[in-house]
Amino acid sequence: MLTRTPTLKATYRLRRLRRTASLRRMVQESILSPDDFIYPLFVQEGTGQREPIGAMPGQFRISVDLLPAEVEQLSALGVPAVLLFGIAEYKDARASCATQRDGVVPQAIRTIKRAHPEMVVLTDVCVCAYTEHGHCGIVREDGYVDNDASLAVLAEMALAHAEAGADIVAPSAMMDGQVQAIREKLDEAGFTETAIMAYSAKYASAFYGPFREAADSAPQFGDRRSYQMDPPNAREAVREVLADVEQGADIVMVKPGLAYLDVVRLVREAVDVPLAVYNVSGEYSMLKAAAEKGWIDERAVGLEMLMAFRRAGADLIITYLAKEAAQWLKGS
Ligand SMILES: [Zn+2]
Repeated sequence: MLTRTPTLKATYRLRRLRRTASLRRMVQESILSPDDFIYPLFVQEGTGQREPIGAMPGQFRISVDLLPAEVEQLSALGVPAVLLFGIAEYKDARASCATQRDGVVPQAIRTIKRAHPEMVVLTDVCVCAYTEHGHCGIVREDGYVDNDASLAVLAEMALAHAEAGADIVAPSAMMDGQVQAIREKLDEAGFTETAIMAYSAKYASAFYGPFREAADSAPQFGDRRSYQMDPPNAREAVREVLADVEQGADIVMVKPGLAYLDVVRLVREAVDVPLAVYNVSGEYSMLKAAAEKGWIDERAVGLEMLMAFRRAGADLIITYLAKEAAQWLKGS
């Protein structure tokens, strides 16, 4: 029968370094900073437009003329980069609007660069917001998305963005060979300095729901499972990433983030190029909805989520929380 409490003879008492805030700060392994944030912006034609997106409280579709003020605010908060998504004026089967030199995205790039040349401008390169069927490529008569026919349109779209002054183009269509097609097109036209951030491991995810309202890009038939990745697969993500690096990607990406942190870690271990993670619309909206109901502490949960991306190995975080998180970090 045990008669006394045994003394703990531990060599390691991990609580020693958790005792005070200063000690904890000294041994903190991951750092979260606005320097790593990329803020997505939905841009549309017109003037004076700032249309709230219902399923994404705090996010708007903004007309080009209001971008300088928006970017000014981001700059003041220390957020160095924006990722532009265009809302098409009109849609057709071949995504004609996507390659126009005076389209909404080229206009937005020029406007931002004139007002704030230091702001890094990334552009999403995909046709789903520009096609009437809402798929990310050119659709054949039998309804299948034609990989190779889509490459030319994506490359032309990327060139239109590079000509307007984009720093980084970001192909997100998940067509095989899209990075190579874009790299060749840009180099031929003399845009050897325009970088490519590849949406390398982009999953066919239900977490994109709110975004589709924002960009008006929901597929009108079928789904995107024949080109986006299947959620059960992780090794395949590494193959996607290696293929993109071989084709010339300067930055690779995993999307979505929260439910795919294992993939972020695998990719981090597989390549040395900068790795971005997309903290997608559904992740943002879940946080907002739960906070609105008073069920969670928005600031604490938001920062914990963003830190998880850094801990998993992401260098860059594309997030709708960029502005708020920059403010939260200032206050902490
Ligand atoms: Zn798309």
